[in-house]
Amino acid sequence: MATRRLIDIREGDRFHDECGVFGVFRNSGASALTALGLHALQHRGQEAAGIVSCDRGRFRVERHMGLVGDNFTSQTVIDRLKGDSAIGHNRYSTTGEPALHNVQPLFAETAMGGFAVAHNGNLTNARRVRGELRARGSIFQSTSDTEVLIHLLATSTKGTFIERFIDAVRQVEGAFALVALTSSMMIGCRDALGIRPLVIGDYEGSFVLASETCALDIIGARYVRDVEPGELVVISDRGLESIRPFPPSADRFCVFEYVYFARPDSSVAGRDVYTVRKRIGEELAREAPAAADVVVPVPDSGTPAAIGFAEASALPFDLGIIRNHYVGRTFIEPSEQIRHMGVKLKHNANRPVLAGKRVVLVDDSIVRGTTSLKIVEMVREAGAAEVHMRIASPPTTDSCFYGVDTPEKSKLIASRMNLAELARYIRVDSLAYLSIDGLYRAAGEERREPESPKYCDACFTGEYPTELTDRMEQLPHSQLSFLENAQ
Ligand code: SF4
Repeated sequence: MATRRLIDIREGDRFHDECGVFGVFRNSGASALTALGLHALQHRGQEAAGIVSCDRGRFRVERHMGLVGDNFTSQTVIDRLKGDSAIGHNRYSTTGEPALHNVQPLFAETAMGGFAVAHNGNLTNARRVRGELRARGSIFQSTSDTEVLIHLLATSTKGTFIERFIDAVRQVEGAFALVALTSSMMIGCRDALGIRPLVIGDYEGSFVLASETCALDIIGARYVRDVEPGELVVISDRGLESIRPFPPSADRFCVFEYVYFARPDSSVAGRDVYTVRKRIGEELAREAPAAADVVVPVPDSGTPAAIGFAEASALPFDLGIIRNHYVGRTFIEPSEQIRHMGVKLKHNANRPVLAGKRVVLVDDSIVRGTTSLKIVEMVREAGAAEVHMRIASPPTTDSCFYGVDTPEKSKLIASRMNLAELARYIRVDSLAYLSIDGLYRAAGEERREPESPKYCDACFTGEYPTELTDRMEQLPHSQLSFLENAQ
């Protein structure tokens, strides 16, 4: 008997979200609030979740594989997480394998007391630093890049805890939005370029830190401000103190947060995500109009851009693809006769909207091209007369090294095919991407200034805004020219 295939829906043709972080300082409901905050940030990582609380100097740790809703809704778990301060983390593994020892927040007892840390981003020199620390005697408990921060802090020769923390973050490169907890303070810190988001909120007089504002909304917290790029905030019983540990540099917030990662009801880096996504659709309609009957999003991430496209081109918007929101992780394929099962687990064509119509299909990005191909075929099988694909971002040609799980450059279809080849491959009547200037306009800039781009856009341009030390050291010398733009 033939072995049936296990369909892993996580293999989807998408950049995978990175991680979400959350923390509450000095509130009697700290752990329950943190569970709610993590639930609102579930889109940033569905592999594992953890919470560390602090109860008068005693730390409690709960870390589990799976969703927040599956692990942090019982009173028993929340009761175990005693204390008036807590931090939490949702994980999608970008470094370190998906195993419990890599689930965050990481916790360690140091000479300065207990210390927990939750990290969104990726340290691009973690491998090098780990090697140096090991050579000096450090023993690592995980394969997570974040653990180097704990060892750097523990082995620092500086005086106070905050001086040691600063010493540690100054030695790492890459992207980090950190929330950390000791018995007397909660710390928030963003890398000098502010690649990943982090906001400050106020819940009934208690400070809150969160990756996105949607996590403040769920608990009814008031948005106070963003943690600025390169800022370290120390929240203690004395209030909030702001420190600038890094030399000043221009911001380079991840522009893909606006395209796909952040929730549309969030505001990140000072802009409403939904508004930017709609503007992306408007720009796309101006740059690449299509003679069509209906604009259809690939849900959910393509929806706001499709609304913007439809409004700007005076075409009807309709739901020609319906998404199933209740998809588990894997399914056994029952028969090879079910065509495109992997895609159909998530999406199905809505025939009455598509039959006989010239369809503009709006998606946020094309990664490997495999899903686009299947979705287009599904739309054609439902009777669409023409399919015009419009992509709400520029061609994704380069991998991300800042905390987003992306395939190798060679697997990114836009790095291998030009527009005409790609249109033929996914079998559309026309294909157009948003220009990089169009993306910048949607995100509030006039254009991309090549000498001083406002955002990190490396997955569209190959221009990495930080050192990529580990990547450079891994590559054979003959391939190093690929990273010429990295510095
Ligand atoms: Fe964001 Fe792309 Fe930069 Fe990664 S490379 S931080 S996904 S813009």
